Formats: sequence, C-alpha cells, structure tokens
Amino acid sequence: TELPADPIQENSRRQVKEACFSYVKPKKTSKPKLIHVSKEMASQLVFSEADLQSKAFLNIMTGNTVLENTTPYAMCYGGHQFGNWAGQLGDGRAINLFDVEHQNKQWTIQLKGAGETPYSRQGDGLAVLRSSIREYLCSEAMHHLGVPTTRALSLALTGDSVLRDMLYDGNQAFEKGAIVSRISPSFLRFGNYEIFAARGDHKTLKTLVDYTLKHHFSHLGTPSKVTYIQFFNEVMQRTLDMVIHWQRVGFVHGVMNTDNMSILGLTIDYGPYGWLEGFDFGWTPNTTDTQNKRYRFANQPNIGLWNLYQLANALYPLIEDTKPLETILENYKLGFEKKSFEMMKSKLGLFEVDEKDLKLIQDLEDILQLSETDMTIFFRNLSNFKKDNSTIGLEVIKDAFYKPNEINGNIKQQWQDWFDRYQFRLEKESMSDSDRKMKMNAVNPKYVLRNYMAQLAIDDADKGDYKRIDELFNLLKQPYSEQPENEKWFAKRPEWARHKIGCSM
Ligand code: AMP
Ligand code: MG
Ligand code: MG
Repeated sequence: TELPADPIQENSRRQVKEACFSYVKPKKTSKPKLIHVSKEMASQLVFSEADLQSKAFLNIMTGNTVLENTTPYAMCYGGHQFGNWAGQLGDGRAINLFDVEHQNKQWTIQLKGAGETPYSRQGDGLAVLRSSIREYLCSEAMHHLGVPTTRALSLALTGDSVLRDMLYDGNQAFEKGAIVSRISPSFLRFGNYEIFAARGDHKTLKTLVDYTLKHHFSHLGTPSKVTYIQFFNEVMQRTLDMVIHWQRVGFVHGVMNTDNMSILGLTIDYGPYGWLEGFDFGWTPNTTDTQNKRYRFANQPNIGLWNLYQLANALYPLIEDTKPLETILENYKLGFEKKSFEMMKSKLGLFEVDEKDLKLIQDLEDILQLSETDMTIFFRNLSNFKKDNSTIGLEVIKDAFYKPNEINGNIKQQWQDWFDRYQFRLEKESMSDSDRKMKMNAVNPKYVLRNYMAQLAIDDADKGDYKRIDELFNLLKQPYSEQPENEKWFAKRPEWARHKIGCSM
C-alpha cells in the first residue's frame, strides 16, 4: 500500500503507468500435485510439517487458493535486454502472493508460472516442468554453495498442459505445466527503477527508491541524496560479490539483462543458466546468445558493471551529480581486480603474499583451456597436491581431462612447468597440506548441478518419477562435503550429454 498501485484490476496485457504493481489473480489449475518441498526454506518461514502436507499448502502454492486478506500482485519493470532498452517488461509469469515475517526476517512468496498478468506480453504466463525443475534445484543448490540467491520453497505440477516451441526443430509440443514458489526478501530488479527513469516519472521513481531504502537498506538512514549514493554503492558491492561467487563455482547465468539483476545482489531468474564443465571463458549456455556471446563466462563481471551503469542512469534524477556515481562504478573495476584475485588465490590454497601470484593464476587459466578440463574436478582434486614433491601434479588432476590423449607434447610440458611453479610457491605457505586441503575444499565444491544431471531429473520427472529430483536436491545440500555414497556425481559429464543443454522457457 505504500507503493502506487495500478488502478485497473484485471489481468489483461497493457502498459501500466505511474504504478509499481498491478493486482492480479493467479490462474486456477486443474490437478495440482506437489512434487517437492525445500524443508530448509520452509523452516525459515512459518510453515510446520503439517502445513506442508496440507491441501491448503498445495492450493496456495499453485494459485488455486488466495489466502484471506492477501492481495496477489505482479510488479512493473523494464529492462535492457542484450544491451538494448526493451521498454516495459514486468512480472509476466510471476505473481507475488504475500509477505511472511519470521524471526525478524521478511520474505516475499512468489509463484512462477501462475498465469497471465498485465505484463505477459506475447507469453501465456505459464511455466513448464522442465524449466521449473531447473530453477527449483539450482536456486537451492546455489544457496547451499554460499552464493547469494533467491530461494525456492516448492515445486508442483499444475495438471495442465502448456504449449511450447521446441528449440531445435521449430515445432510446437505440449509439456507438463508446473509452478515453483520462489522466496526472496525482495524481487525488485534494476529494471524496476529503470522503467520510471525511462518514462521521466521521477515522482514514482523516488517513491520506489525511498520504499527500497526503508524496507531493505534501513541501515543507511533516512532518504537523501547522500543515502541514495550509499544505496547505489551497496548495490554495486553486492552485485560484485555475487558475480565473484559465480566465477568461483563456475556458474554462467546466461541472461544477465537488467530485468534479471536483483537490487539485493541475489542470483535471480534461473533460465538458460549452465555450469562450466570444461573450464572455458568463452562458454555460454544460452543458445540464443551465440552471435557475440554477450553473457559468456568471462564476460559476467563486465556485464555486471554495464548493468550498474544502467542503474546509475536510472538513479541519476534523484542524485543529480555524476561524480559520485562514476566513482562507485570505478570502484567496481578496482574491487573486481582485488576480489577476483583473492578468490582465485583461495581456490589455489594460496594465502601468503607473492608478487608472482597473478601471473601464476593467469597462466593456469590459459593452460586450463588448452584441452577440455573439468573445472569442478580440477580444483577439487588440486587440493590433493602436496608441497613436498611427493605428488605428481598431472596425476593428481588427471581425472579432470576430457581428452587425456591430448595431454602430451607441448600441453604436457606446460602443465609440468606450471606445477613446478605451484609446488615452489606452496613452499612459501606455512599451512600444512591437510589444512590447506580443508581450506581449498571449502571454496571448491565437489558437487554442482551439472547440466546433464538436471536433464536426468527432468527426463525421469516427465515419466512421473520424481526420485531423482529428491536425490539431487539432497546431494546439493552439502556441495563441499565428501559424500562417498554419491561419488558417481563427482564425475565428468558423460559424452552423450555434450550438447544437451536445458533451455529456458
Ligand atoms: P526472462 O528472459 O525470463 O527474464 O523474461 C523476460 C520477460 O519475459 C519478463 O518480463 C518475463 O516475465 C516475461 N516472460 C517470460 N516467459 C513468459 C511467459 N511464459 N509468459 C509471460 N511472460 C513471460
Ligand atoms: Mg526475468
Ligand atoms: Mg526467465
């Protein structure tokens, strides 16, 4: 009620002006069925075990029941998509149900795929099982990896069919409809601010920024030009931290449009994302981004900055001074150099200061790309290297190579030279091998949601078997732990899965 609402209360598609959101009604589903619930998420909300089992929970989390005294709504936002201003976008298939306050934390419960809203444009407002499984599993996995992210509470089938274009053959097919309930302290995106700046509606812009400060950045104090600048600075820091985490674990978001950038620095919108298998700076999972691969792995930090420029432009009318904004953007670049370096050092188990470390890291990144080398396996196994010359580097990491036959001649030599330097460098570390291993294993996950793993869960679920979802969900709750019974998931992507990438719609 603090934010201006769209006076029209119907779901028809339209341009919504001078309002931050529109009241909408979730679509009724024909035969909802709960597939999975995140107990970890549920425990942070007010839901008891009995609640989760109840018909009411199922009906609420699929949009069939609207809780009394709640008013579901869809937010209005714009965005830059692939570098171009796209005008009004908005929650086209997301509906915020209500907020829950528990243990001094506020959470918004949102349904993804609960039907059309004023912002649905050409879309149907629905989501399919495939993409819902991908979002559900990955967002919870990211949380357990320690990466800032929106969460997921439940995954349910709607019982309805959804018509989708098939990515590869241009045909259309019916797929099972599904709904994920997503949870976040806020779903506000850069695009929520951009839309009002783009329309010259500085009044609503200010209302929204003040609301954001009051509810999500209250530590900054009462709104003023100074706090607006501090707000932007904090968004910059959080965005930077998030992207550094992505680079650390090998997560490629795939659609870093400004409407997919959370104002809280949380990973949001799990669409065509993917995990690096072979370490490859040029890789993107997004099959629609093949021309210049804007959202490729190596470019994520740059795009974070590019997106912050758009947010700076949007906030400028309230600040009316470019200087502090430019300084903050400049600090993103400096912060990136520093934090990225520290992050890579931690992956290598280097804690002392050595001027040659930057070169050691850069050379490693080059060598990793000479022959397809699994990022996760490489860094995890690297912690088994010993500084006393009793291990052979290439032996320690051999399981990471997709084409072991290629590791000879010049490539083999480069690896050997690099390991000689690494071994020499480790002698400078005072930490014991076992302590270093422990530290490295806390930043180099053993288990990530490899693209084919999600695909296996999807294929089973399509046939009505949801055991794999539960198996992967549990596996990914402890991504840094040794799980002897799950060793099969600590393996290279099988060859059949090379070109299999789940897609976004
Ligand atoms: P995305 O690329 O997922 O960030 O989506 C961009 C915009 O398209 C957002 O405004 C979404 O709400 C909207 N959108 C995506 N899929 C659908 C759909 N199936 N129905 C309606 N709107 C959609
Ligand atoms: Mg989106
Ligand atoms: Mg999406």
